[in-house]
Order: sequence, then structure tokens, then C-alpha cells
Amino acid sequence: MSVYHDEIEIEDMEYDEETEIYHYPCPCGDRFEISKEELECGEETAKCPSCSLIIRVIYDKDNFMVGEQAPAVKKADVALA
Ligand SMILES: [Zn+2]
Repeated sequence: MSVYHDEIEIEDMEYDEETEIYHYPCPCGDRFEISKEELECGEETAKCPSCSLIIRVIYDKDNFMVGEQAPAVKKADVALA
């Protein structure tokens, strides 16, 4: 079992669009990191590359998991002349 340093909501993390990685400041001065890809796989542990601390990321998996979402209901654009 992992012992989390903290539990952080995804909304409180910073998203880097270039690397597609979410960041959160670590007490050691570095940052916890978790990639969008990991979130899509259901991963919820963000790790700091500089120390051994980890945090648990609170997020709604349904917003990240691919393939589980119902296709957007598209209004049938049928011309009813
Ligand atoms: Zn750290």
C-alpha cells in the first residue's frame, strides 16, 4: 500500500499543454507529475522526480477514460423540406 503525502484535486493542479502533464508543487521544491495518458489509464498517483513523495490525484475518471464515453448525441441534421 502506498502512503500518500497528500490528496489533490485535479482542478488544483497545473496542466502543461505541451507535455500533457499535470503538475503540483512538491515541498522539496520540485513538482509532482502525472501525465494525461496515465490519468486515462486510471492512474491516480503523481510522483515527484526529486524525492520519494507521492500524492493521490482526485479526478473524475469518466472525464479521462477513453472509449467509455457515449458518443455525443448529434442532432440529426435531416432536411425536412
Ligand atoms: Zn519532491
